[in-house]
Amino acid sequence: MTDRRTIYLDNSATTQVHPEVIDTIQPYLSEKYGNPSSIYHKGREAKEAVEDARKKVADLINAEPEEIIFTGSGTEGNNMALKGIAFANKNRGKHIITTKIEHKSILNSAGWLERNGFDVTYLNVDENGTIDIEQLKKEIRSDTILVSVMFANNEVGTIQPIEEIKDILKNKNIYLHTDAVQTAGKFDLDVKELGIDLLTLSGHKMHATKGIGALYIKKGTKIEPFLHGGGQERNLRSGTENVPEIVGMGKAAEIAKKDLEKNRIHLKKLEKKLKEDIFRKIPELILNGHPEKRLPGNLNISFKYIEGESVVLMLDEKDICVSTGSACTSNSLKPSYVLTAMKKDPVFMHGSIRFSIGAFNTEEDIDTITKTLPEIIKSLRAISPLYNKD
Ligand code: PLP
Repeated sequence: MTDRRTIYLDNSATTQVHPEVIDTIQPYLSEKYGNPSSIYHKGREAKEAVEDARKKVADLINAEPEEIIFTGSGTEGNNMALKGIAFANKNRGKHIITTKIEHKSILNSAGWLERNGFDVTYLNVDENGTIDIEQLKKEIRSDTILVSVMFANNEVGTIQPIEEIKDILKNKNIYLHTDAVQTAGKFDLDVKELGIDLLTLSGHKMHATKGIGALYIKKGTKIEPFLHGGGQERNLRSGTENVPEIVGMGKAAEIAKKDLEKNRIHLKKLEKKLKEDIFRKIPELILNGHPEKRLPGNLNISFKYIEGESVVLMLDEKDICVSTGSACTSNSLKPSYVLTAMKKDPVFMHGSIRFSIGAFNTEEDIDTITKTLPEIIKSLRAISPLYNKD
């Protein structure tokens, strides 16, 4: 079922496609190749499959099927939410509020909007990565049209107080968007209860394939489309539907809903074990992100005196995949903008590692990592000029 040679603990980067998703997609790559817009039986068959998937994605977040638009990625959903709301509502106001620790698909869309006449406020976060609710209250203006705050951060796992934000925005005629790309299958995402107007999902973070996503758009929301053409997806995203991947996303959503509690318990159990073992075996480290309000399965740990990239490469030699929290580019060793916004001590910033556990990980995976990691950290510290060996 899963590739046992590699221990994959980078499920926030992408996830293994679920075998049932692969089986579901298969016929739509071969005999079920119809275009959903065609009126004969092959077209109707494809159309029914797309609508069935739409219902399954809607069910996962307690939305109505007609409130789900299939996109090409989480990035596209976030672009569509920000730019679509901004352009459709610019006669009411040109002010948008987001945070300093959003995914780049939000930050760079916001930057583009700023260059095109909009005003964006980026909220600060505290040392745990939680936004400052009091700052949000102060920053709301008469021309604010949208607040976009991610549900859970992809790097440090901190969960934002979305319900409190909803209460602040009540009766204010301001749209609330949340990037829930990292959250699907790990939380009960009820858009009605949470008072959310737009919510972004991505297939490959929830055991579907890459290149498929969904955007929930609450009925009545004024949003401008950016892909014009044949009018598919309720005129909001023209282009012939990506039927196989839509069908796969539907299956992944169905599994995510069915296994939600089981998965949460599994991820929390492995996360607890990994954290306790690492903290017991290795000195001089800190946990990044909120100690409790965090994504199940996400552990971002900074090891003092070392570079995260070296740990990633040495673990890779042992067939263990994790990522740095610091997302350095090859030519600039800039620390992570998320950890920077959290005002982390620079001595910890470069040595951060993100372990993100997934549904297919086992206790043996955790044991292998916690047997391997202490030696690696020790050997890197031994050659670190910063480390006091006395
Ligand atoms: N939002 C968050 C929080 C993410 O972690 C990611 C991917 O890393 C995205 C958006 C972008 O999703 P996609 O890879 O489907 O474009």
